[in-house]
Amino acid sequence: MSNKVSFPYLGHVIVYKKFLQMMGFEVIMPPAPTQKTIDLGVKYSPEFACIPFKMLMGNYIEACELGANTIISSGGHGPCRAGFYGEVHQRILRQMGYDVNFIIFDSPKRDLFGTIKKFFKIKNKQSISKMVKVSKVVFPVLKDLDTFEKKIHTMIPYEINKGQSLEVWREIYKIYDEVYSQKELLEARAEGHRMIDSIKLRKVNDDEKIKIGIVGEIFVVIEPSINMDVENLLCSLGCEAERSLYLSEWVEHNIFGEKHEKTIQDLGEKYIEILIGGHAKTTVGNIVDFKNRGFDGIIHLMPFGCLPELVSQSVIPKITSDHDIPVLTLSIDEQTGKSNNLTRIEAFIDLIRNKKTKEKVFSGGKK
Ligand code: SF4
Repeated sequence: MSNKVSFPYLGHVIVYKKFLQMMGFEVIMPPAPTQKTIDLGVKYSPEFACIPFKMLMGNYIEACELGANTIISSGGHGPCRAGFYGEVHQRILRQMGYDVNFIIFDSPKRDLFGTIKKFFKIKNKQSISKMVKVSKVVFPVLKDLDTFEKKIHTMIPYEINKGQSLEVWREIYKIYDEVYSQKELLEARAEGHRMIDSIKLRKVNDDEKIKIGIVGEIFVVIEPSINMDVENLLCSLGCEAERSLYLSEWVEHNIFGEKHEKTIQDLGEKYIEILIGGHAKTTVGNIVDFKNRGFDGIIHLMPFGCLPELVSQSVIPKITSDHDIPVLTLSIDEQTGKSNNLTRIEAFIDLIRNKKTKEKVFSGGKK
């Protein structure tokens, strides 16, 4: 039986598709998550499971329905239950009658031998040099997409032609979807920069800008279909938005051992001393980092029932008073209603705007 490979729908999925296609796999693209995905996930998951588990469950069922027989995903470790996700998902899918295998990647620092074995599986009888060549195209694609996306979310609030930035972003994404070589990568990069430069912006003083950082558990931070597309929501309210997590940074840390995440964890050390699983320590470290970088407020996204993020939520009042940074925690599950959270976010932004105005008045406009 030939391998029909799929993966979780998380962030820039064209990158996973591209890598697997270039390694010679038949790829089954998981459909973009919809209400049907959530309904399927909720129906076949344990009731107490967190929303990322349920969303992935629905996602995998839809991929299996399209013919996938192999799913490649990443695992977790430490006290958080993400470490069991792959195993539990596979068992549920098999009980449902799908003949599917999982390849779960964990951090190479934890299980180097196991990771090498899994890399050989996804090498798919291609040479190592071919794999290196493919990675040299695919990783820069991921990095560029993250860089452009980050940039776009600093431009939307100031665009003169409403909707132009998102239009440009969608075009850039389409262009990168067609990149399969170094030459195409360089052309896409040049075109991306040209398109970004073509966006007309109105001039806004720095002290009038509102910058919001988004922190929390990786799945709900990165995937817009589950977090009410919170970055664009914030931009539509006139704020710049930046996430604490981008997939390229996750890869750099977990595969290439890049040190940025360690720096962030050190910032969180005062509030959570040990690694308690999930992203709790990086969540608190990122709040301090955003404050140090001049951000005005933080949206903390927490899957309902997520123990690591419950711990970070419990220390947030202390961080807020130590660093004078407002934080709004939003709990996300399958019942999350956009209207309710929109009202809370709007009120939060109004509060920040008023605080900035007051500070400006009291400093005699010198801020
Ligand atoms: S970090 Fe939280 S939401 Fe993510 S898998 Fe662990 S418990 Fe679930």
